[in-house]
Amino acid sequence: MKYVDEFRDGERARGLARALHAEADPGRHYRLMEFCGGHTHAVFRYGVPDLLPDNIELIHGPGCPVCVLPIGRLDMAIRLVEKHPEVILASYGDMLRVPGSGRRTLLQARADGADVRMVYSVSDALALARANPERQMVFFGIGFETTTPPTALGILEARRSGLENFSVFCNHVLTPAAMGAILDVPETSAETVDIDGFIGPSHVSVIIGSGAYRFCADAHHKPVVIAGFEPLDVLQSLLMLVRQLNEGRAEVENQYIRAVTPTGNERAQAIVDDVFTLRDSFEWRGLGQIPHSALGLSPDYAEFDAERRFDMAYVAAEGTKGCECPAVLRGAKKPVDCKLFATACTPENPLGSCMVSDEGACAAYFTYGRFR
Ligand code: SF4
Repeated sequence: MKYVDEFRDGERARGLARALHAEADPGRHYRLMEFCGGHTHAVFRYGVPDLLPDNIELIHGPGCPVCVLPIGRLDMAIRLVEKHPEVILASYGDMLRVPGSGRRTLLQARADGADVRMVYSVSDALALARANPERQMVFFGIGFETTTPPTALGILEARRSGLENFSVFCNHVLTPAAMGAILDVPETSAETVDIDGFIGPSHVSVIIGSGAYRFCADAHHKPVVIAGFEPLDVLQSLLMLVRQLNEGRAEVENQYIRAVTPTGNERAQAIVDDVFTLRDSFEWRGLGQIPHSALGLSPDYAEFDAERRFDMAYVAAEGTKGCECPAVLRGAKKPVDCKLFATACTPENPLGSCMVSDEGACAAYFTYGRFR
């Protein structure tokens, strides 16, 4: 398959691995964060860590939207469907299994009679709204910049077609703000995660463009290489990062040139700018409150805002005792550092968000047999 098979070629992978072994300075340790959970799964699926020299360490970042949503926001959705029997909540499947307060999930709320539906897209939610005009349809919108434009288009379509029973519980978050939060932690803090550079996200960068990461290089002197999802993409990006670090450079480079441009998808950006507005602050699991790191409905589209329509209030909440998801999401701990990993917490019985999601680091370690 074009653009896939050639990026999985074993001989080329071994060649890139040889180059990494040759060029990584044995006198230094390289700590490189793959921000995106899709990359975390890709590196383990293809055994990339086994090809690397010991002094290149991959740090897993918070780029999994299901994982970073704080428990308080999930609790809001559970309270909504429990208090409002007229509501149908449409959600992507992963969110249904994430434990909220008291380890209660949306699936359990559904078993107790709440109307929670799994959907694959906002279009499915619009169809449900049309099919159930006597009910209130709420779409549980989550995700980074990749899934925000489709949610915006859903809202525009609802307005165009006069769908008054459709609204969005908006939890769309912003990648650069999270990267900034990771880099902004003072070096003296116990929360500091020492990172030498970032493997930048693939799909997010298609939307926001490589220019969005300039602050990492300019203000923090950390190199960023935007990488595709295939194993050769990741290996080549690691080599590009090692070369920048060896040469004392901190630049934004784009390995994923077959999809990412400097300015991104400006049409999608314009639609998002029209429908959404920056929230003053938003809590992230593991990263705490980050100013201007998430989107809410802009005043022009306030009638589609579920938080406003149903007077939903945010209350911060604690996760499962012993769950290390916050530290895993910061890159401060690995899944195997959690005492619950693969014992009490498994994909069949997840105790934290990082074991639920297809992009979660704990799920990646479990799925690909990384038990040490
Ligand atoms: Fe949380 Fe489970 Fe991961 Fe531990 S293994 S950090 S309990 S999700």
